[in-house]
Amino acid sequence: MRTQVGIIGAGPAGLLLSHLLHLRGISSVVLEKRSRDYVERRVRAGVLEQGTVDTLVEAGVGERLRREGLPHHGIELRYGGAGHRIAFEKLVPGRSITVYGQQEVVKDLIAARLAAGGDVRFEVEDVAVHGLEAEPYLTFGGERLDCDVIAGCDGFHGVSRPSVPEGVLSVFERDYPFAWLGILARVAPSSEELIYTRTERGFALHSMRSPTVSRFYLQVPADATVEEWPDERIWAELKARLESVPGFTLATGEIMEKGVTPMRAFVVEPMQYGRLYLAGDAAHIVPPTGAKGLNLAVADVRVLTDALAAYFENGSTALLDGYSEACLKRVWRAQHFSWWMTTLLHTFEDDDPYGRRLQLSYLDYVTSSEAAATTLAENYVGMP
Ligand SMILES: Cc1cc2nc3c(=O)[nH]c(=O)nc-3n(C[C@H](O)[C@H](O)[C@H](O)COP(=O)(O)OP(=O)(O)OC[C@H]3O[C@@H](n4cnc5c(N)ncnc54)[C@H](O)[C@@H]3O)c2cc1C
Repeated sequence: MRTQVGIIGAGPAGLLLSHLLHLRGISSVVLEKRSRDYVERRVRAGVLEQGTVDTLVEAGVGERLRREGLPHHGIELRYGGAGHRIAFEKLVPGRSITVYGQQEVVKDLIAARLAAGGDVRFEVEDVAVHGLEAEPYLTFGGERLDCDVIAGCDGFHGVSRPSVPEGVLSVFERDYPFAWLGILARVAPSSEELIYTRTERGFALHSMRSPTVSRFYLQVPADATVEEWPDERIWAELKARLESVPGFTLATGEIMEKGVTPMRAFVVEPMQYGRLYLAGDAAHIVPPTGAKGLNLAVADVRVLTDALAAYFENGSTALLDGYSEACLKRVWRAQHFSWWMTTLLHTFEDDDPYGRRLQLSYLDYVTSSEAAATTLAENYVGMP
């Protein structure tokens, strides 16, 4: 079996890459180890930058996103007993975010690929990467897929990054001393916009997925388990943190999903080796505070599509050679923004009173200075 681009992973990066390549007349095969049902139900990100929405709409997969996505023109920072709105419409006119679940993006992309006769294989076992220096191919479940290029879109725990010979990649990473407990609840959002809350008990985020489904996150110890957090405890803690301003009442409901996500930052450089190009979480992850992971995955495959189109259309390797450098600029901006938001809003066990005062002083600055608020806003909606 032969294709031009062998893609490992049917997350947002792999599926969007396959779709964008198809629009440029380039063939691909997507190999995914999980079932279609599993990837379509996996609850993760939900904040789409303006550039991500534009990419999906321009690629013809934004019809449901436009209909069901919730455009947001601001977020609230809540701390010290008061809420402060960061107003995108004033600070970064014409730019906003859209709340639309990652699993909905994945569903739309799978539907588009299959409608176009795309080759997306689910529940594929034992994918392995070979011949990266000259003649790349993939093996899986007793089969062989020859290709010109391999795209490693298989997330943080995939096989593509570990296939690069030792010593080639430099790793930059940071583990945070806490995790996020995330829940999805069948209850109307208690606020129209996202609320990022800092309290002495820790961080909490009020988010949403639709007019009837809310998403919440709680800062919890790094070794926390779902078993330690029965529903009543979660609601009590969310109330203790979010009802920290007068007059705000948190509506509660049935918890449909819960999970603990480690808070980690990770980047490899370069994002390519021989005929292998890494995209999305396979190359970098950010703590979710800045809502950047999914958006970075989309940005990577946009760059990779243009580079592959130049290569297949006229043999030019200039863009492919510069792929990693082009992506890493955006990756590091997002790394810094995610670190900054995380540091600003979480409580750190080893923080002394001096450190806490600095944190509050910075929050006061961000919520009172237009220049500081613009920095937050332009990074949040996504740099052009
Ligand atoms: C709880 C949580 C909340 C988040 N919130 C946000 C947010 O608000 N905003 C945001 O932008 N980002 C957020 N993120 C990050 C975002 O979800 C990821 O950055 C995004 O999923 C990256 O997409 P990807 O396609 O690169 O990787 P993935 O979505 O991880 O997809 C990789 C795919 O590869 C498959 N795979 C793995 N190994 C193999 C193998 N050996 N063979 C074949 N297939 C394989 C996997 O099953 C998976 O389907 C969040 C993440 C989590 C966990």
